[in-house]
Amino acid sequence: MPRVRMKNVKNIVMIAHDSRKQDLLEWVKYNRAVLREHALFATGTTGTLIAQHTDLEVTRFKSGPLGGDQQVGARISDGDLDILIFFWDPLEPQPHDPDVKALLRIAVLYNIPTACNRPTADFLVACPHLPREYEGLALPVPEMLEVYEVLAAAEASASWIVWNNSLPCFL
Ligand code: PGA
Repeated sequence: MPRVRMKNVKNIVMIAHDSRKQDLLEWVKYNRAVLREHALFATGTTGTLIAQHTDLEVTRFKSGPLGGDQQVGARISDGDLDILIFFWDPLEPQPHDPDVKALLRIAVLYNIPTACNRPTADFLVACPHLPREYEGLALPVPEMLEVYEVLAAAEASASWIVWNNSLPCFL
C-alpha cells in the first residue's frame, strides 16, 4: 500500500449526497475556523453550497453524477488529496453508485483518512495530526503495540509533552 505523507496544510475534499448536504454544511460551518487553515476541495454542488453559505475558499470539481467522484479518485491516486469527508446516502441508490464505490475503494487503497458521518469527521478535525506534518508509521500490529507501550511508559513519567512531526516527545 502507498505510504502516507502529509504536510501541515492538508488538502481536504468534501462530498455530500443530496440528502446529506445540510448535515455536511452544518459541520463545515461549525468547524470553519479549523477548515480555514487547510486547502478545501469539493464536488460541484457540494462546493457551491459551501461557498454560498460560508466565506471559505473551495476548489470545485464537476458535480458527482457528472464525473466529480471520478475526478476526486484520480486526484487521490495522484497523491494530491489528503483527507476525504464523504457524507454518502446509505438509504437511497444513486445514479453514479459505481463511481461512489470506486472512490471509496481508491480512498482505502491510498490510505486516505475518510469520514462518512459527522462523528468521524469530528474526530478527524480534532486529531493532533491535522495541523502537523504526518508520516504514517505503517508498522505491523505487534511492533505498533510495542511503540504504544514505550510511549505509555514515557508519558507516565513525563512532565511535558511536545509534538514533533506528529510524534510526541516526552520531557
Ligand atoms: P455534488 O456531487 O456535490 O455535485 O452533488 C456529490 C455526489 O453525488 O457525489
